Amino acid sequence: MSVRWIDQAEPGVRQFTPYQPGKSLAELERTTAVGNAIKLASNENPRGPSPQVMAAVSKALTDLNRYPDGHALTFRLAEHLGLTADRLVLGNGSNDVLDLVARVFLGPDRSAVVSAHCFLVYPIVVALAGAGLTEVAAKDYGHDLEAMRKAVDETTGVVFVANPNNPTGTWVTHEEIKHFLDELPEQVILVLDEAYCEYMDTSNYPDSMALLKEYDNLVITRTFSKVYGMASVRVGYAVANAEIADLLNRARQPFNVNGLALEAAQAALDDKDYVAESIRLNKSGLKQLEAGLSQLELAYIPTHANFLTFSLSSRRVEAADVYQAMLAQGVIVRPVANYRMPDHLRVSVGLPEENDRFLVALKKVLEGG
Ligand SMILES: *Cc1c(COP(=O)(O)O)cnc(C)c1O
Repeated sequence: MSVRWIDQAEPGVRQFTPYQPGKSLAELERTTAVGNAIKLASNENPRGPSPQVMAAVSKALTDLNRYPDGHALTFRLAEHLGLTADRLVLGNGSNDVLDLVARVFLGPDRSAVVSAHCFLVYPIVVALAGAGLTEVAAKDYGHDLEAMRKAVDETTGVVFVANPNNPTGTWVTHEEIKHFLDELPEQVILVLDEAYCEYMDTSNYPDSMALLKEYDNLVITRTFSKVYGMASVRVGYAVANAEIADLLNRARQPFNVNGLALEAAQAALDDKDYVAESIRLNKSGLKQLEAGLSQLELAYIPTHANFLTFSLSSRRVEAADVYQAMLAQGVIVRPVANYRMPDHLRVSVGLPEENDRFLVALKKVLEGG
């Protein structure tokens, strides 16, 4: 064993910490005596998949021997969004299209700008592309767009903005994004990651599809993992001007989205009731969690997304210990110390009874009894 393989790896790969997913129910049950646990750790749709999506996947099983063809979903999405299909790029989850943007528009002589507490997939795809990263300090946990714009220099290829951001839940308004795009050099791409856009019932949330008509350097990413309840299936997409979309499609693996996922996503777009009910349930679940956290005198970062990030700094406890104690109660939440928020924990909005169980367990952990 004379070769140290890590020395052979690309520098970007050597340096980064792999993405840490939320702990799964199976893992918790395998490693502890805890049974009947609930997972509120990965911002998944708690309702289970849409029955129409399940039916579409079952039906597609008979074609498992065929290579998938993404055209139907591409056209269906184009219709859904009111634009032409040449602006779309399908991904094996939206993380896949984030990676495509980095591979096409970043490289060793380039860099990306992100905010502190940004979604950790951005630093990972940037490192894999061998590019540099400029992290800009956050303002009240949110993106400081003014400071981010000032951080753009001649090496900058891409700016990543999650709206709302995960794990902070903070968001930027239409006017703020428009102002940012007005000031951004026209060759620098803004990736607007709208993984949670469907939940954003606030009037000043960006109309990104309208902005796309005005700004050539805007790339919007969306996903079927959250409100559509398909995190396991892996479908996401990017929308951009046709030339950028073509470049991203060149770099895309030809069969990056599998056949079951393609059928599932089309069925999901048709099941409007599932989406509407998911949004409604999330709204009331957020209220339930907010009320419960307030009762425990824990501050949370306001959001419209399907998760809440709350602070334990008012208590004489470590968030990491609370996380472990919650696990022992059979409630999986998400530590966010790796997002440099060591005093916070993130909880996803669950079903009403799951939210209740979370609040009861948290009270017990913090106050005993
Ligand atoms: C959950 C999430 C995604 C979705 O990733 P997929 O690969 O589509 O599952 C993208 N961006 C952010 C900020 C997220 O929180």
